[in-house]
Amino acid sequence: ERQRVAAAPVTPGALADGTPVPLLANLGSADGAAEALRLGAEGVGLFRTEFLFLDADRAPSITEQQEQYTRLLTAFAGKKVVVRVLDAGADKPLSFLNAADEENPALGLRGIRALRSSEVILREQLTALAAADAATDAEVWVMAPMIATVEETRYFVALARELGIAVAGVMVETPSAALIADRVLAASDFASIGTNDLTQYTMAADRLLGTVANLQSPWHPAVLKLIAEVGAAGGALGKPVGICGEAAADPLLAVVLVGLGATSLSMSPSALADVRASLARYGLDDARAIAEAALAAEGAAEAKHAAATAAATVG
Ligand code: PEP
Ligand code: MG
Repeated sequence: ERQRVAAAPVTPGALADGTPVPLLANLGSADGAAEALRLGAEGVGLFRTEFLFLDADRAPSITEQQEQYTRLLTAFAGKKVVVRVLDAGADKPLSFLNAADEENPALGLRGIRALRSSEVILREQLTALAAADAATDAEVWVMAPMIATVEETRYFVALARELGIAVAGVMVETPSAALIADRVLAASDFASIGTNDLTQYTMAADRLLGTVANLQSPWHPAVLKLIAEVGAAGGALGKPVGICGEAAADPLLAVVLVGLGATSLSMSPSALADVRASLARYGLDDARAIAEAALAAEGAAEAKHAAATAAATVG
């Protein structure tokens, strides 16, 4: 008889000194839920909902959406699930969303801006999520992409609460939101830093363009400085600051991000084990020292090198 391999118990993410750093999964549909749990995801830090809307000639109904959210929330019963509302724009045109041709889609009517101009879609999505939330027992948080102002933050948080979702926050993906993170966080329950877009907008380098790929590094001290700004604001206000961009999947950069004030990290499930092992090597003071070394560097390569050197002396 074939022996069944028992699932190895996976310990929660934590630093060497016991500081918890919840390790969460980025998911693009409920299909990946079982695999993420098997790999030790403590919840979902970014549920991208675009899959519900792409390739459709009409917005999905509230019932259709509710079914998908319920499937996800059921799989993560008792755990935190951060759902991001639709992040669409002229780069992914949807016939039912206002987005005319734009020369610079990354700078156009995308994310929260597009949703505001087609508010019924946002209302329906939040209504479906609130219904799924009420019917399941995951801990549901909702967040909006591409926030640039406090006014947008207030708009989104108020609407989420009006429609019955208790915990509402924002993604920090623009330098603007990072630079005024204290005010943005004062108006919301949490922030989650999208390092893919934050890097793109900080370095003014299209994330899809190979010719400027050398500028697309979240290790760049300019990006790290903005992340530090958000981490400090979260610390001062006692509000969670997660990271959900690709940067969180880099084991050494993950340590830097925690040193800059990140309170949880979300990534592709396949990256969880290496990040968990890396965090377990350093205490919070170590992580802060490693982050300081990276912040003080000249460029991305130097920051990575400085972090590795600092890590070798403290770890
Ligand atoms: C990000 O920008 O870092 C992010 C997590 O969102 P997306 O990659 O979906 O734009
Ligand atoms: Mg983004």
